[in-house]
Amino acid sequence: MKIQMVDVKSQYQKIKMEVDQGIQEVIDSAAFINGPAVKKFKESLEQYLNAEVVIPCANGTDALQIAMMALDLKPGDEVIVPAFTYVATAEVIALLGLTPVMVDVDPDSFNITPEIVLAALTPKTKCVVPVNLYGQNAELEGIMNLADQHEFYVIEDNAQAIGSDYIFKDGTRMKSGTIAHIGSTSFYPSKNLGAYGDGGALYTNDLALGEKMRRVANHGQGKKYVHDIIGCNSRLDSIQAAILDVKLKHLDDYCSARQEVADRYDLAFINVDQLQIPKRMSYSTHVFHQYTLRVKDGRRDELKSYLSEKGIPSMIYYPIPLYKQEAFRSYTEVDFLPVTEQLCKEVISLPIHTEMSVEEVRYVSETITAFFN
Ligand SMILES: *Cc1c(COP(=O)(O)O)cnc(C)c1O
Repeated sequence: MKIQMVDVKSQYQKIKMEVDQGIQEVIDSAAFINGPAVKKFKESLEQYLNAEVVIPCANGTDALQIAMMALDLKPGDEVIVPAFTYVATAEVIALLGLTPVMVDVDPDSFNITPEIVLAALTPKTKCVVPVNLYGQNAELEGIMNLADQHEFYVIEDNAQAIGSDYIFKDGTRMKSGTIAHIGSTSFYPSKNLGAYGDGGALYTNDLALGEKMRRVANHGQGKKYVHDIIGCNSRLDSIQAAILDVKLKHLDDYCSARQEVADRYDLAFINVDQLQIPKRMSYSTHVFHQYTLRVKDGRRDELKSYLSEKGIPSMIYYPIPLYKQEAFRSYTEVDFLPVTEQLCKEVISLPIHTEMSVEEVRYVSETITAFFN
């Protein structure tokens, strides 16, 4: 059995006709940059997310950068960011001369919480960037309440959770990424809504902020050849937009397929004392960009090698706290956050994707339970 972390190839086979047709139409029209395909996808995504404005861009890292540029943050302004995330989230903060304030995460949700944010607030806090890690929302209702009280912006790094729902205390639901002032996402091929190359997007319900971000992403240009602000050049390729427009129609099915795999894994591991299965938080649905276990008996690396011998790939997201990365040495005084340190030693992400068969899930599950018996 050849098990893969993700299987973009088999997924493509099932939608090949639609995708190929979309690509061919872009080539036939030669509208490679900002063509009708980009507009169509932008509108489809606005409708899917129920967001006022979607701004497509070149990748998820650019999306974060454009968001921060549009907020007019000044050097020295503090941006609160989890230390347990992909490097891109903190990198753009440093790149813009802002001060990343790295904070710990909750051991159950793997995300920052209102309490963690509150403890890190200073008069210089201008922005908070919760990451909806592994496919589940951070507790955004509480974080947005703090934002109202203390006047800071919130950018949701939603690269891993597109398609999930945020569930407010009163039961209303909103699509992940649309709760904060700005949401950013990535269409990197292995993400839940993956292109066949790079891509990203920003979303907001604030029209003025939307217009500002659109300008930033397009050389700070309002009218053609009139540049009001310093911007950058970050566009979603028309061919990628055509592909994404097809795949967006399948996103909910893709999320369900991942959830089914996760449910099977849960059942297999719930009684294994050495493992903690992913907790499902009351305020979010989970779309399982990753299915991430905590190995509590210190044998995580041993398990990883064992799986590899049995032909099962696995990944460690993330092995090193961001404050221990050489690149951030001069940007942060933080040198120890207990939960982040613990998670870096305990987490392991298993194969999960839309094409995974019941037999494959069973093989992975049985191999893991055998390891602990
Ligand atoms: C993938 C990812 C990004 C960056 O997206 P790119 O499209 O690769 O630039 C940012 N943040 C998180 C949490 C991610 O998982």
